[in-house]
Parts: sequence; structure tokens; C-alpha cells
Amino acid sequence: MAHRRPCPRHNVAVELVVILLSFGIATALIARAKGSSFFIWFIVGFFLPFVGLIAVVLYRREKDEPERRCPRCGLIQKLYVQVCRRCGEDLYLPDPREVHHPNSG
Ligand SMILES: [Zn+2]
Repeated sequence: MAHRRPCPRHNVAVELVVILLSFGIATALIARAKGSSFFIWFIVGFFLPFVGLIAVVLYRREKDEPERRCPRCGLIQKLYVQVCRRCGEDLYLPDPREVHHPNSG
């Protein structure tokens, strides 16, 4: 019976692919849960492990962001915008009545 030694280099390559696939799938599952593209984030997670995973965790859907109206010019923009894109008005914490949730009805 021939004693077959596994090639260590081959094993490392297989392990690397398995790890990258795991990152790709984990990243894609998070992205899908957030309503984004499974396929695109799989590619991102596969080629950018850690970075892709962190990116998708931090990624947030634009349409889920609350919006508010600029008190000076009336432009509706995201709540996290600190300076109005149109008139340059400094936007501090808004009046709660001015906050608009796109998905709340
Ligand atoms: Zn403005």
C-alpha cells in the first residue's frame, strides 16, 4: 500500500478557497438580509475578505434613512447630512416633526 502524503501547498490553497468562500457567503447573506444584491456582495466578500464583511455590516440602505427638510431652502435630504447640498445651511439635530421616515407609511 503506497503511503500517499498530501501535498501541503495544495491543502493550503484548498483551505484558502474555503475561507474565501465562507467570507463571500457570509457577506452575501448579510447583504441579502439588508435587501442588497447577494451576488455582488458575494464577489466583494470573496475577493476582499474582512474588508467586504465589514463594509456590508456598515452598509445601510439609503431608502431606510430618515429624511428631513432643510429649514432654509426646503430641500429634502438624509438625516445624516450635516450641511445642505443646495444652500449650505448647517443642519443640526432636526425638529422631530421635520423627520420623515420613507418606509413608515
Ligand atoms: Zn438648504
